[in-house]
Amino acid sequence: MTQPRPDGKRKWVYTFAANTAEGDSSMAGLLGGKGANLAEMACLGLAVPPGFTLTTEVCAAFLSSGKSSAKSFPEGLKEEAEQALHRVGELTGAYFGDEKAPLLVSVRSGARASMPGMMDTILNLGLNDKTVEGLATLTGDARFAYDSYRRFIQMYGDVVLGVDHGVFEDTLENFKNLNGFGSDADLDADAWRDIIAEYKEAVEREHGQPFPQDTSAQLWGAIAAVFSSWNTPRALTYRRLHDIPDSWGTAVNVQAMVFGNLGERSATGVAFTRNPSTGEKQLYGEFLPRAQGEDVVAGVRTPQPLLAQGVETGSLEQLMPETFAELTKVFAFLEAHYRDMQDVEFTVQNGRLWILQTRSGKRTTEAALRIAVDMADEGLITRDDAVCRVDPAALDQLLHPTLDPDAEQDLLTTGLPASPGAASGEIAFHAEMAEALKAKGKDVILVRAETSPEDVHGMHAAVGVLTARGGMTSHAAVVARGMGRPCVSGAGALRIDSNSGTMRVGQRVFRAGEIITIDGSTGRVLAGKAKMRAPQLSGAFATLMGWADQSRRLKVRANADMPRDARQARLFGAEGIGLCRTEHMFFEEDRILAVREMICADSEEGRRRALAKLLPMQRKDFEQLFEIMAGLPITIRLLDPPLHEFLPHEEREAAQVAAALEMDLGKLKTRVSELKEFNPMLGFRGCRLGVRFPEITEMQARAIFEAAVNAGQKAGSQAHVEVMIPFVAFRREFDVLRSVIDQTATSVRQETGAEFTYDVGTMIELPRAALRAGDIAEGDRGADFISFGTNDLTQTALGLSRDDASPILANYLEREIVEIDPFVSIDQEGVGELVEIGVARGRKAKPGLKTGICGEHGGDPKSVEFFNAAGLDYVSCSPYRVPVARLAAAQAAIRAKAQAAFRAKTKST
Ligand code: PEP
Ligand code: MG
Repeated sequence: MTQPRPDGKRKWVYTFAANTAEGDSSMAGLLGGKGANLAEMACLGLAVPPGFTLTTEVCAAFLSSGKSSAKSFPEGLKEEAEQALHRVGELTGAYFGDEKAPLLVSVRSGARASMPGMMDTILNLGLNDKTVEGLATLTGDARFAYDSYRRFIQMYGDVVLGVDHGVFEDTLENFKNLNGFGSDADLDADAWRDIIAEYKEAVEREHGQPFPQDTSAQLWGAIAAVFSSWNTPRALTYRRLHDIPDSWGTAVNVQAMVFGNLGERSATGVAFTRNPSTGEKQLYGEFLPRAQGEDVVAGVRTPQPLLAQGVETGSLEQLMPETFAELTKVFAFLEAHYRDMQDVEFTVQNGRLWILQTRSGKRTTEAALRIAVDMADEGLITRDDAVCRVDPAALDQLLHPTLDPDAEQDLLTTGLPASPGAASGEIAFHAEMAEALKAKGKDVILVRAETSPEDVHGMHAAVGVLTARGGMTSHAAVVARGMGRPCVSGAGALRIDSNSGTMRVGQRVFRAGEIITIDGSTGRVLAGKAKMRAPQLSGAFATLMGWADQSRRLKVRANADMPRDARQARLFGAEGIGLCRTEHMFFEEDRILAVREMICADSEEGRRRALAKLLPMQRKDFEQLFEIMAGLPITIRLLDPPLHEFLPHEEREAAQVAAALEMDLGKLKTRVSELKEFNPMLGFRGCRLGVRFPEITEMQARAIFEAAVNAGQKAGSQAHVEVMIPFVAFRREFDVLRSVIDQTATSVRQETGAEFTYDVGTMIELPRAALRAGDIAEGDRGADFISFGTNDLTQTALGLSRDDASPILANYLEREIVEIDPFVSIDQEGVGELVEIGVARGRKAKPGLKTGICGEHGGDPKSVEFFNAAGLDYVSCSPYRVPVARLAAAQAAIRAKAQAAFRAKTKST
């Protein structure tokens, strides 16, 4: 919030100095994170060199002027900044541009969200041919003064005047070689003076003008350059990757310099108040004696540790014990104040400690969990705070093996990060090849242009899946996530020729059996085997998840079809199965033939014969699931996929089906071509199958109920069965299938003499179903529950095919037509409103109607927050995202509670 100046004009500059500041840590939007925290630290009485912050509003005004010269600053800014600079002079006793007692300043960027190293910084500003002499006299250290001046010319020349830094490095190297100097430390004041002369010549030559001697021109040139660095390509890329809006802009901090390179008792360093890698409560950092911040970044000198533990000499604790003790106290104070792990920059000048920056430290997920739990145990934060401190999406890092970031990587291309985790294995171009290699004990990556249900057994056999086509909800992506297999989809640079058994990327060609690595968390595809890190589910993970479970309202179920996935889901804390896609149970080699027979049969009799083969297999699958889920709810969806996915494509397959059906091959082929559709995704699928061939629904319902009876008898308690009808648009479709299901239940009860209960519900995947949810749920025979299939609902609401959306969305994202892929995070305004309408109308017709969501959005934290607010009862997602959804649901509930409390408070005051 901008505070107007006494004269009513907009305030552009905020000052800070010991014990007083015009800003505070709540003003990061205006002052940037660095400026806000400098102000806060100054008010807290910490030793912060005085200075001032030019706000992000100055940045907006400056950049919108379209010019990048110092002339484009808003009116009134210069006067405010000059006043602030004068005040810094009064506080330090050194004045900007003064030849005897010159004030030097740093000019640094500082955005609302930290963007480490992405923007520019200038140190030692205020030096010229005259002031450098003043600095030499004042400090009694001419070498230091001239070294500082040459550093300034180099930095300013590079950042502001656009002279390549290589020019300065070459000049320095040549000088050292010609004059027989080994390292910079050997150079004395005279040598630096000579180098300065050469640097100035280089600037004039490259830039066309002499190095500016007017300190005010230096300052405004630097401020303009730092504001402009908001728009450098690397800053733009960083913002895109971290979802930081371009409109935020950066603030600029101008601050009195303190010198870590002035004499023996000076140093500069960076420290984390806890270990950012493991979370351990132990100082973690480095420093360099006689150095400026840029030396630490440059990496030419090896920094030294802060702690004496484990080193013989050279730690800050050993070399400067008093400073170390003071620093330890400051760190504890900062942690207690900010209630978070801090990343602190400090400088020691002649034994005096100065704090130059503090911010919440970036950390690994492992560290985030440990720090949150420890801080709650220490009483620094509440358990709810701890739960909100960990990014749910980042839990993925823990649950899957990941690429070791320190190991070398031979990057081939990048696709979509479709299913997290990393895997290395031999390339297999067919499902059969994948299975065969697996049988030989090999790890396999299944590489396909795109996958279809026929590849499912190959995907099972593989440790990872790579496709050239398809988006985040393509077949490969959905199935791989369900199986917990890493998957990179839509890697468009790949040219896959499965017939000749080659995969090309640019000039490189890979053959079956060659090893590649995929990282489904980042979309990277690498040549060869890469080093991995095993998943770590530490004690802190379990503790924090326990706290999360106490806070959330939404239940979390898993999408699981296979026993292995169901077991994994329970290990990750799933409270039931929200979607069992029965078609996934049909792709095993021994079943697909029976499924094909069922589809291709040209009579009910032929279909029933094939269905009779499938019944015992389905029953067994369901029994296993009921057993594993031990009384937790299981939603079993009736057969859904487009029929063409099952059709025999190859000659060999067609011949097998013809033989099984005792049908002429030519006739079978005709039947297959009859079944082909132009637009199968919107064709003969979902409930439309059961409406036309009720015997399919009947077989599935029978398998479910018989399995429930068997599992119930074995366990001594009832399985919790929910039968789900997919792709419903009309109430009549629901009625037709419900009566088949109910009649089958009656038969099974009569045949077995067993009693059991079940619910019948529907998926809401079509806009019409969302609008007519009231009608669909109405009455005893209406839907007992509804589950939003947001993959299809997104596809049908947006009229955007799930499988073809990728290139369109890539373009839309780039052009900012959409902010986020709607297949990844729910389109809250459009598809979200359909969900809200569906819930409201469904519940109006049937109070207490069970509602859930089982599309891929169920594991996306932002979407989970939306579903919590929409009042759903549960979300269901792939097993590996269950912990992500549990944590996201808890955070959503905690935030909703806080917002409600805030609203109640503001109402009553
Ligand atoms: C959906 O459409 O959201 C859904 C879960 O079903 P499927 O992905 O199997 O079409
Ligand atoms: Mg669907």
